[in-house]
Amino acid sequence: MRLPGSPFPFLSRLAVKILVVGSLCSVLPVLALGVHLLEKQEDLLALRVREALKINLLSKGNEIDNWTSIRLREALPWSASFVVFEGVETIMRGQGDLERARRDMREYLDSVLELGHYRVYESLFVVDLAGNVLSGTRTESLERWGRDLLAGGAPPKKGIMSPIFRSENLGHPTLLVLQPIQGRRGATVGYLVERIDVRELESLLKKTEEGLHPEYWLLDEKGNILVRAGEIAKRPGQQRLGIDPPDISALSAPVNEVQLPDVGRVVLGFRRLSAPARGFLVAMVTEEEAYRSFRESRRALLRLGIPFAAVVLFILIVMTIGVLRPILILSEGARRISAGDLSVFLPVRGRDEIAQLTMAFNEMTRRLRVGRDHLEQTRDELARANDDLRAANQALETLAITDGLTGLYNHRHFQDMIEREMRRSQREGRPLSLLLLDLDHFKMYNDRYGHVEGDAALRRVAGQILKTIRTTDTAFRYGGEELAVLLPGCTKDQAFDVADKIREAVETATARMDRGGGRVTVSIGVAATPDDGRVARGLMDAADAALYKAKEDGRNRVIAAGRRIEEARKSIESM
Ligand code: GH3
Ligand code: MG
Ligand code: MG
Repeated sequence: MRLPGSPFPFLSRLAVKILVVGSLCSVLPVLALGVHLLEKQEDLLALRVREALKINLLSKGNEIDNWTSIRLREALPWSASFVVFEGVETIMRGQGDLERARRDMREYLDSVLELGHYRVYESLFVVDLAGNVLSGTRTESLERWGRDLLAGGAPPKKGIMSPIFRSENLGHPTLLVLQPIQGRRGATVGYLVERIDVRELESLLKKTEEGLHPEYWLLDEKGNILVRAGEIAKRPGQQRLGIDPPDISALSAPVNEVQLPDVGRVVLGFRRLSAPARGFLVAMVTEEEAYRSFRESRRALLRLGIPFAAVVLFILIVMTIGVLRPILILSEGARRISAGDLSVFLPVRGRDEIAQLTMAFNEMTRRLRVGRDHLEQTRDELARANDDLRAANQALETLAITDGLTGLYNHRHFQDMIEREMRRSQREGRPLSLLLLDLDHFKMYNDRYGHVEGDAALRRVAGQILKTIRTTDTAFRYGGEELAVLLPGCTKDQAFDVADKIREAVETATARMDRGGGRVTVSIGVAATPDDGRVARGLMDAADAALYKAKEDGRNRVIAAGRRIEEARKSIESM
């Protein structure tokens, strides 16, 4: 079924409307719900990521603080050892066996490291108040951080941990704990220095494998990077994170999403640490990782949503075609009827409203067909009746202008015709001739042969006239036994000739009659336009006068109007 103007067989404008409304009603709510759920999921996820980061920060921060305080506490008993403060005081006094004091201290510190299995320490060593190394588990020197601290005028009274810094002597990052050594009189006489193996810190800051597993960074108090993503920076404290640590008094700062150079977009949070160097612990996850489940959901929604929409659209198209097909068939049927084709019959399927409509449509078409057939029949009958009527009229008309006895036209028609022919001759500038005939001594004929035979004679004369004249000429029964002939286009001379032929024919035809009837002759007066009259009356009077003359002259002759009898006679004889 194709609708006029539609490029697709099944996609009428109605179908498109249904498809659009159907799609909007089915796909749109699902998509809207999906998008809404995704947004909700994103919000929830953001909240969860922030919460998880905060918890991670807190626990990892506590771990580091613990680790730091253990490092500080561990050094306390070692610095209070008799061997240590005695050794330092001996060397400071410069009296006694200095070498031995150094060796005792070294042996003591060696034993601490060996017996305690403190792999966390690279070395232990002792410095005097100026930072000069007195003894140690290996050859050592105090870096600038320590010397600056001691030369600052306010040397530390308690244990202190350095930030992570790059050791100029060792050529790698390091971390120191300085623990004051109290002398006999309670004054600080030197410092026990623990050089911590920074890999310990690294292992502490490794990514956890469960949960959110953020990366941990460590910053010094100015915001410079000490540990980058769980690894000690190559040059600690020399590169900035890209975002300043918040000025917070609380332990942790709100978690934010930021763009970091070299890292990309991340969600991160800060937590203040007491050490190393009162810096910050930063926990961060890339947005990619934080929102991975959200992105997976979105991809899943698209993966499912597109086939779902396609399936819904397909079902809609199939259903629309199913619903619209009968309507389109009806519409096409109506179009054919409006174009005049009443042979339409539509198939009826099912029992629904459209089936009923189709049945009503078929019935309507049938009635139209019956009505049209009836009309056509009536029209044919009317046409036939019309033809009959026309024929009857024709016959009546002919009858009305025909003389019943002779079969010639009657007097009334003569009057019409002479007027008409006069007008025509004037219009066309052609002559019109008139013959007036009268049977000679017909009274006597009747008396002799009887009226019936008189009528027969009259018919015979009429027959001779019709035989003689041209088809363009017309003969009339003027009245009684008087006859007339109109000859359009004939001059008077030509008319004269015709008249004489008639006269002769009548005479000859009746000459040898003996049984029933006798010889009949006619006298004929001839007149012609324009010489003998310009109106019908004049022409008739002229012809009548000529006839009268023919009678007077002895009958059985032709006389033309306006000529003397002698001339007429001569002209007859010369022929
Ligand atoms: P004329 O030569 O002078 O014409 O003599 P006529 O006897 O013919 O004189 P007129 O013309 O005056 O006579 C007319 C006669 O023609 C009268 C009548 O008896 C006869 N007649 C006229 N009409 C008919 C007709 O229809 N049938 C018959 N049988 N005779 C007719
Ligand atoms: Mg007469
Ligand atoms: Mg007569």
